[in-house]
Amino acid sequence: MKIAFIGLGHMGGPMAANLAAKGFAVTGFDIVPANLEKAAGQGVAAAQSAEDAVTGAEAVVTMVPAGQHVLDLYRHILKSAPPNTLFIDCSTIDVASAREAHGLAQQARLQSLDAPVSGGTAGAAAATLTFMVGGEKRAFERGQPILAAMGKRIVHCGEAGAGQAAKICNNMILGISMIAVSEAFVLAEKLGLDAKALYDVASAASGQCWSLTTYCPVPGVGPKSPADNDYKPGFAAALMLKDLALAQQAASETGAATPLGAHAEQLYRRFNEEGGATQDFSAIIRHLAAARRD
Ligand code: NAD
Repeated sequence: MKIAFIGLGHMGGPMAANLAAKGFAVTGFDIVPANLEKAAGQGVAAAQSAEDAVTGAEAVVTMVPAGQHVLDLYRHILKSAPPNTLFIDCSTIDVASAREAHGLAQQARLQSLDAPVSGGTAGAAAATLTFMVGGEKRAFERGQPILAAMGKRIVHCGEAGAGQAAKICNNMILGISMIAVSEAFVLAEKLGLDAKALYDVASAASGQCWSLTTYCPVPGVGPKSPADNDYKPGFAAALMLKDLALAQQAASETGAATPLGAHAEQLYRRFNEEGGATQDFSAIIRHLAAARRD
């Protein structure tokens, strides 16, 4: 099966390489020549342009930074695609743009899926990503073997945009819960309570959650996490801020009240502005520990 892969960055590069390794004929394109060259060394045929990559493809995967990139690309390349080509956008973008992208594909009589991922660059390299997928069932069924070559869990969440909706709702929980766990450890320290003692109690009590027991923001406590590696990402605080901002955009478009989501976005924005952007998102604990109560 011929696949075009557009956007060969930190995520797209290894994802395209996995498709090629599993026998798909992958033609790739990226506006950054170095990224294209790197992919070419991993079994991906290099195209001269996005249009070139798409010509003759049965499926097109895009992995670019934001909604505007996806829409610009779609406006550019949909007309170069053979009828019935399946477009799969794996980028994390706002729900409104995802729905607009589906609309553009539909007008051009093409099939489409929004299929954002979780699992980060490690998951992209190991082909263990989770895909959250929105779009029609028959498009989902067609896309499944392609996604299975890049990931280990593929969930059909509903119609157009449902994959992006699932992604930002999940990551809003994650951002809020990481702040909650971090605040508890900051308060415990002020109270003279040992971090390990808090972990031992809360991890087996009603405070238990993923941010505590799988990804503890305190080093030396719980299973190995970025905190044990000087907060090297993992999942960078800049990406957490991006996802929290997408959640707030969706909340304001739909009128949903998400006061904790809004506050989490503000806290992560401040942390990013104060130099935290390239640290793991769990390093928010350092920012909270340094803050003074008003
Ligand atoms: P990246 O910046 O490394 O890669 C994006 C690539 O898209 C770049 O190589 C860029 O040159 C290319 N690009 C942009 N516009 C293009 C165009 N018009 N034509 C061709 N190529 C184009 O970013 P990334 O970390 O790979 O993330 C990609 C997407 O995946 C983002 O939406 C991000 O939010 C999401 N995501 C990232 C992670 C992560 O850990 N990095 C985890 C989950 C989801």
